[in-house]
Amino acid sequence: RLVVLGSVNADHVLRVPHFPRPGETLAGHSYRVVPGGKGANQAVAAARLGAEVSFIARIGADAIGREMRAGFALDGIDVSAVEEDAMLPTGIAIIYVSDEGENSIGLSAEANGALCPAMVQRHGNLITEAHTLLLQLEVPLESVFEAARLARAGGTRVVLNPAPAQPLPAELLALVDLITPNQTEAELLTGVAVTNETSAASAAARFHAMGISRVMITLGAQGVYCSDPAFVGLIPGFRVEAVDTTAAGDTFNGALLAAELAGLDFKAAVRFAHGAAALSVTRLGAQSAIPRQEEVAAFLDE
Ligand code: ADP
Repeated sequence: RLVVLGSVNADHVLRVPHFPRPGETLAGHSYRVVPGGKGANQAVAAARLGAEVSFIARIGADAIGREMRAGFALDGIDVSAVEEDAMLPTGIAIIYVSDEGENSIGLSAEANGALCPAMVQRHGNLITEAHTLLLQLEVPLESVFEAARLARAGGTRVVLNPAPAQPLPAELLALVDLITPNQTEAELLTGVAVTNETSAASAAARFHAMGISRVMITLGAQGVYCSDPAFVGLIPGFRVEAVDTTAAGDTFNGALLAAELAGLDFKAAVRFAHGAAALSVTRLGAQSAIPRQEEVAAFLDE
């Protein structure tokens, strides 16, 4: 079983001809509220791609939060540890998407910010009984820390997707078994500007020196640089027509762990994760873009 601890956000998306300037009121169109949040995206990806998943998260006592939680359950996720906060609304992102396809995002943690260490402890059994714990950084850092500590003490493998990019204490990084940064996050954590295989290798060496045994640096359309006991080097992804790269990394993380838990060997698991992430970039949205297992199988057979 996989346990994901992380954020739930309602993404309010509005398409606009250009970004509104200060004081300007602008007519937009195609307003949608779509499920997002890195934690939720990764839990949904792992579940759709075959893993047994429990999700530890916090939503508001509001309709949108409850609707998203019901959606997680429909994807087969155990939502017994998705708690409702009585005071705060569900986390939100306000996203403008311009006609040029650029986006401009305002985020507020809301209930995600109340996922406190005490809440992590309440669900400590889920963590210690799982095979793997998957973490990101959209909930309070002390809670991420607490979860990693419980996992390490209980023999549960710790996977950290260090997004959004932020500096992290060495004590936290030392608890991580597998880290999966993108280029920006790898640079922020190691000081090495990652652009290609050579620079990715130096960044990976820094992560190993921090006590992390497995490193996978995602390089967007270039693929992923792996520094793993099983394989060292760049594994290219699939070439697709990119429509919306939102949640590519989230899909990659969920898919990789689903494949590893299903017993695929290293190369096969990375190929599966690349296939799932490539499919997600051909579709609009976050959770709406995450494919199911059969779709990935069909894509890989082509
Ligand atoms: P993030 O979304 O976290 O910034 P990346 O952009 O590095 O992460 O992408 C994660 C993974 O998604 C890549 O390793 C690859 O498998 C896939 N991916 C991302 N962008 C593309 C693309 N343009 N074409 C094909 N695959 C992509």
